[in-house]
Amino acid sequence: MTQKQVKRIGVLTSGGDAPGMNAVIRAVVRTASSQGVSVLGIRRGYSGLISGDLVELTRRSVDGLLNRGGTMLYTARCMEMFTEEGQEKAALTCRHMGLQGLAVIGGDGSFRGALALSQRGLAVVGIPATIDNDICCTDYSIGFDTACNTAIDAIDKLRDTMQSHERCSVVEVMGREAGHLALNVGVGVGATCILLPERHVDFEHAVIEPIRMGRLSGRNHHLIIVAEGHSSAQDVAVKVQESTGMDARVTILGHIQRGGQPSAQDRVIGTQMGCHAANLLLAGKKPTRLVISKDGDVVDCDMEEGLAQKKDLSQSLFEAALAVTK
Ligand code: ATP
Repeated sequence: MTQKQVKRIGVLTSGGDAPGMNAVIRAVVRTASSQGVSVLGIRRGYSGLISGDLVELTRRSVDGLLNRGGTMLYTARCMEMFTEEGQEKAALTCRHMGLQGLAVIGGDGSFRGALALSQRGLAVVGIPATIDNDICCTDYSIGFDTACNTAIDAIDKLRDTMQSHERCSVVEVMGREAGHLALNVGVGVGATCILLPERHVDFEHAVIEPIRMGRLSGRNHHLIIVAEGHSSAQDVAVKVQESTGMDARVTILGHIQRGGQPSAQDRVIGTQMGCHAANLLLAGKKPTRLVISKDGDVVDCDMEEGLAQKKDLSQSLFEAALAVTK
């Protein structure tokens, strides 16, 4: 298939929303339209593909998107896509609408849905967008930087009141299975300790001792970051209060971490990744690729191979966190 033969591609966002998804959509649309290829946006991820909820996107319809958080196409988790029947329906919509390729913006679950479509003959390209930054084959996933900044900003505000009342704040950060966000946020706010799903620590040694030592040396406020997958922030606060006598209060940052204007990094890398994805689809080679960030550059890899490994925390950042919190 030559480049000229690709006339129409689709784009969807799926899974959890992440700031910067709009920058990717905009880049896919503008790159395709600059080469005379039309783009259909699919609303609400695979649900929209199954039900046929598609909308034409033009250069003008993606105006003003770069600085908007969330996703203009909406996103969803779609149980039907796990079934053969759902996957068939989704593939049928693509055929009916004349889609010759699909850009899927989301996390690893979304890419498994894309693989199912690729097995039915569709060219698919994935663009990693998840505030968890847990997709193993890429150094960076869209949304992570903004989410770190949002959490750090909120915790900086919390610190003012916590210091004034000489409290211990226990802050729950998103991350059920991955602690990348909690680790980066914890380092960014100078937490007393950071509890991560990937690293099991002795509570007395990791949490209680640093608080006791800090108090002996005159520190009257403390901040503990808990990734939601490690343990309940409430349980941590109760244990801290019982062991140290400090007034420990819980804050769950929750969905606020997904919102807000995308950072410069998410706009810029989102744009680069969207352009790269569109170019892969426009080349018309029936690719099954993931666009990734490697060593400061945007490249691509085989989707199936990319999904095969598990991403661990940065050991050097973890060690730095331990060094500065001791
Ligand atoms: P996040 O990291 O934000 O959770 P994600 O893309 O990993 O993003 P999931 O909920 O795992 O989010 O997946 C999003 C959607 O992708 C699912 O609701 C489903 O429609 C589809 N999907 C996930 N896994 C598969 C699979 N194994 N086969 C087919 N479709 C899948």
